Amino acid sequence: MYNLNRYQNLNKKLKTLKRVELGFFPTKLYKLENLSKKYQVNLYLKRDDLSGFSTFGGNKIRKLEFLFGDIFNQGAKNIFTFGATQSNHALQTAIACRKYNLNPILYLVDIIGEGMENPKANILLDQILGAEIKVVELKKGENEFDAMERAKEMAQKQAEKISEEKNDYYLIPPGGASAVGTAAFINAYLELKEQEFKQKLNFKNIYHAVGTGGTLAGLSAANAYLEADTKVHGVNVTHRKDDFIKQVAELATEALKTADIDYQVKSSQLIIENNYVGPGYEIPSEKANNTLKLFAEKEGIFLDPVYTAKAAAAMIDHLEKREIEKGSDVLFWHTGGTNALFAEKKLLGSLLDN
Ligand SMILES: *Cc1c(COP(=O)(O)O)cnc(C)c1O
Repeated sequence: MYNLNRYQNLNKKLKTLKRVELGFFPTKLYKLENLSKKYQVNLYLKRDDLSGFSTFGGNKIRKLEFLFGDIFNQGAKNIFTFGATQSNHALQTAIACRKYNLNPILYLVDIIGEGMENPKANILLDQILGAEIKVVELKKGENEFDAMERAKEMAQKQAEKISEEKNDYYLIPPGGASAVGTAAFINAYLELKEQEFKQKLNFKNIYHAVGTGGTLAGLSAANAYLEADTKVHGVNVTHRKDDFIKQVAELATEALKTADIDYQVKSSQLIIENNYVGPGYEIPSEKANNTLKLFAEKEGIFLDPVYTAKAAAAMIDHLEKREIEKGSDVLFWHTGGTNALFAEKKLLGSLLDN
């Protein structure tokens, strides 16, 4: 159940935001028959892993549709963004730039310390796309967040140097998690609601992976504003400081504001699961890898070790502990990322042991 008037209002206001077409939407709902039987629920995937239009989809495509709308509004040519060397977001940004004849400049923080010597998976594709790539090595004692801040300062300097005019460049934050990018996941939530209505489903629990928090902020903003009786469980894949939940709530509020809706999202309206990160971002966890194997062997579905397997591990844990009502509809939002299976061995861990 949710507030239908608010749904219509939100839907109308989101349509006023400029947006380009990058992916194949709406993404399908797909039932996992075998796992549904095993856990006595109706378990569905939201197939954002197949969101198109180029090789490998993922949640970033939704955000980029809105971000590129904003880029066109501003008339920017040089598009800067940030991520890890295997960033899905950076790759999708470069792909979108090529479609629209823009210049992608990627600042990639080398968390796994493999540099550019033997490029695989996303960074290989970034190279084939001819993106300008700046690898930012971690300094001694520096964590990934500090390195990312340093990368942003470097990008800002470069942007000002190459640009003849101020609006020649556009900086997309890591993960595309600006207010504009986040609005895409408010829209995604409405897309889901329409599918639920048409397919007579009612998801009481939704699970997905949390990186920068944009996806969670968007889904939770809509969930809170519509007063829906759904729990959106964001599962962290990065160790975060305590104030992260507050930042996500602020981002959710800001994203609603881009659609001209004045509504304050509170931290208490968000659910963040912090117990499934394992050792850290881009570091494999046993639980996640077991879940990745479970999905592959039971359903022929691939997850990725960095994001989706960690998030799915939380959901499986809750199912095993019977914290989810029997017979209820459960959604796992598959945000993509399976390209990581072709990345450096360090990302895979024990998956290669058997
Ligand atoms: C970026 C990403 C996420 C996290 O999305 P955020 O909006 O950054 O929190 C989840 N899964 C995959 C595969 C991703 O690439």
